[in-house]
Amino acid sequence: MKAVVVNAQGNGVEITENKELRPLQTGEALVEIEYCGVCHTDLHVAHGDFGKVPGRVLGHEGIGIVKEIAAGVTNLKIGDRVSVAWFFEGCGCCEYCTTGRETLCRSVKNAGYSVDGGMAEQCIVRADYAVKVPDGLDPAQASSITCAGVTTYKAIKEAQLQPGQWIVIYGAGGLGNLAVQYAKKVFNAHVVAVDINPDKLALAKEVGADIIINGKEIADVPGLIQEKTGGAHSAVVTAVSKVAFNQAVDSVRAGGRVVAVGLPSEMMDLSIVKTVLDGIQVIGSLVGTRKDLEEAFQFGAEGLVVPVVQKRPLADAVQVFDEMQAGTIQGRMVLDFTN
Ligand SMILES: [Zn+2]
Ligand SMILES: [Zn+2]
Repeated sequence: MKAVVVNAQGNGVEITENKELRPLQTGEALVEIEYCGVCHTDLHVAHGDFGKVPGRVLGHEGIGIVKEIAAGVTNLKIGDRVSVAWFFEGCGCCEYCTTGRETLCRSVKNAGYSVDGGMAEQCIVRADYAVKVPDGLDPAQASSITCAGVTTYKAIKEAQLQPGQWIVIYGAGGLGNLAVQYAKKVFNAHVVAVDINPDKLALAKEVGADIIINGKEIADVPGLIQEKTGGAHSAVVTAVSKVAFNQAVDSVRAGGRVVAVGLPSEMMDLSIVKTVLDGIQVIGSLVGTRKDLEEAFQFGAEGLVVPVVQKRPLADAVQVFDEMQAGTIQGRMVLDFTN
């Protein structure tokens, strides 16, 4: 079958025509992929940033139809539409898996990194971990919710955002745009979006941001947020920039929460005095559980959250990775496996 894989050197991507799948084992299902989004994490995996994985099928934003189920599968049937997510499988029995924090499982498997992922005509999944896509949700849009959507939805949950409160979303790109939508439409919050790109800010405004701030034009972003909102109740940082993390801490009011999602390889400055005196909480949040994804999908199916996606043929895969590397992509690129 055709698949997008990490090359033999473990430092780039290539399209192969003859990837073979092993036979299904007990508890597994075979999924015929319809769409798979291309994410920055795929670029890191392809370049060997987390360790080289030559030959690995990339992709953790896969959506497809169940074609075959092995013995022992009770939760899926042939014809179901399911997802292939970064949180591919946990051990099921550790302290994290048994307390609703399965994404922290120390023996986790990640699609498109430690196991073959969704950028292929077919993918083998552990049935218990494949989350069903509800009827009424466009499969290409569902692909974006599988990663960016659930990540931001979960981050807002971690922020413990209440209706009517203020939240600041740092970074208004693929993740940030969805964060604005979930915060506004699902949590009924007031939203400030901060970015340095005017196009992304305009899009954030279009999908519901109450206030947009261009960090390039405003000298004191946290000061402006404090002035306009009295200090946000929480902030979610999707930007890959230390500056944004530092500004987020200064943007929240006493008792505020700062949820870290973006992954710049830097340290943030955290004033111990401010953290103690203002009771600031800084929380890391990684993707979401199966239940989080089920909920994130449902809000998409109800039309509250609409991911901006662009379909591209499989033949364009290498080019899409180049465009991502160059930073020229707006919205989400989704590889189309349907023809
Ligand atoms: Zn992703
Ligand atoms: Zn576990």
